[in-house]
This record gives sequence, C-alpha cells and structure tokens, in this order.
Amino acid sequence: MDTSAFQAWVHEASLLITEHATRLTELDSAIGDGDHGINLRRGFQAADDMIEKSESDTETPGAVLRTVGRALISKTGGASGPIYGTGFRQAGKALGDVTEVDAVLLGSALEAAFNGIQQLGAAQLGDKTLLDALGPAVVAYQAAVGEGGDLAAATRAAADAAERGLAETIPMLARKGRASYLGERTIGHEDPGAASTALIMRALAMVAAGETS
Ligand code: ADP
Ligand code: MG
Repeated sequence: MDTSAFQAWVHEASLLITEHATRLTELDSAIGDGDHGINLRRGFQAADDMIEKSESDTETPGAVLRTVGRALISKTGGASGPIYGTGFRQAGKALGDVTEVDAVLLGSALEAAFNGIQQLGAAQLGDKTLLDALGPAVVAYQAAVGEGGDLAAATRAAADAAERGLAETIPMLARKGRASYLGERTIGHEDPGAASTALIMRALAMVAAGETS
C-alpha cells in the first residue's frame, strides 16, 4: 500500500463511520453516554479534511497515520479520541518514513496500535472495549500473513475477525471506561468502540482489495 492507499483508507473509514454514526451512538446510548458515533464522525471527518487539504505532512503512509492520530486526539471527544489517536500515532510511528508498505510491515503497525492502546487504557481482552475487536483482528492478520496471504487476504481476515470479536462483546461485562459504571446492564449489548473498530478494519480491507468508492 502506498501513501494514496492510506489516504483512501482514512476517507473510506470516514464514510463508513458517517454512514453508521447513528448505530454507533445508539450502542453508546445503551451502555454509555450516547456520543460515540458523533465523536468519531467529527474526528474522522477532521482527519479526512486535513489529508485532503494537505494541511499537515501527509507525504508518506506513516505521516498519514500520524496526522490521523493528531486529528483524532484534538477533534474527537470522549475516551475514544485519545485511544484511537494513540493507536493511529503508534501505527504511524511503526511505519517510519517508507513510501510503500508491505503485508509484514502493516502487521507490525497493527500490533503497535494494539500495544499503544493497551498501554494507554490498561484494558485487558474480555473487558468489553475496542481491543476485543482489534486483538482478534491482529491475530487473524498475522495468521493470514504466516500462511503466505497478501495484503488483501490479510486485511480481509482481520476485518472478518474484528466483526466476530464485536459479536463476542455482547455477553461481556464492561470493565473499562464509562460503560463500566453500568455493571451488569452492559451485558447483552455490542461495545460501541468494538463496532467502530470493525468499521475501520472493514475500510482497510476494502482499500487493500481495491473496492473503494
Ligand atoms: P466516552 O466513553 O468517554 O463517552 P466514547 O463513547 O467515544 O467515549 O467511546 C467509548 C468506547 O471507548 C467504548 O465503547 C470502548 O470500546 C472504548 N474504551 C473505553 N475505555 C477504554 C480503554 N480503557 N481501553 C480501550 N478502549 C476503551
Ligand atoms: Mg460515549
């Protein structure tokens, strides 16, 4: 994937999050404060705008992701702004300044995102957060690459695993963030952050497969 493919990923993620903002907000109304869709739509639209207008350095794949991280940290409210922002910044750092990203390097970037988010928010797998979608996505991605899969195959495996991870958050009890205050009432609902992570991973798979609008 080259720089324009990473820009396309951000654009596609912004479109998907905008399309699903109401659903994300409804999920967050059930187990949080009902702002997740609004927060993330604002953040991704800001990131997409910054890239489109080249308001910041977006010359390499890593620079694109670092710009997304900055935009999400400054424009997205709630816990998810710094959490996603950190994930994108760490992924961007892992890419360094290469101009073309292969399947192995993208795997390192996804792992860096997971580790950065885990360090920041101290959530474990099973705590009903977006890590319960991102964790399985990273594992499935690495497994696909290990079997000789290319970027399209690995990102598809990651997106499929993120969606399965999202479904697996339904019976979980939230132990982190605002949702944790609701205790048992969080059981029976998808985690909003896991739902947005599944969309972001789907956007990546679409771009890697050349299926974008
Ligand atoms: P807020 O909870 O501040 O309103 P959002 O509604 O934007 O923020 O985001 C909520 C989502 O953030 C949750 O669904 C969860 O996936 C994610 N989240 C919350 N705390 C953590 C954490 N410590 N680690 C990882 N993700 C978290
Ligand atoms: Mg919220």
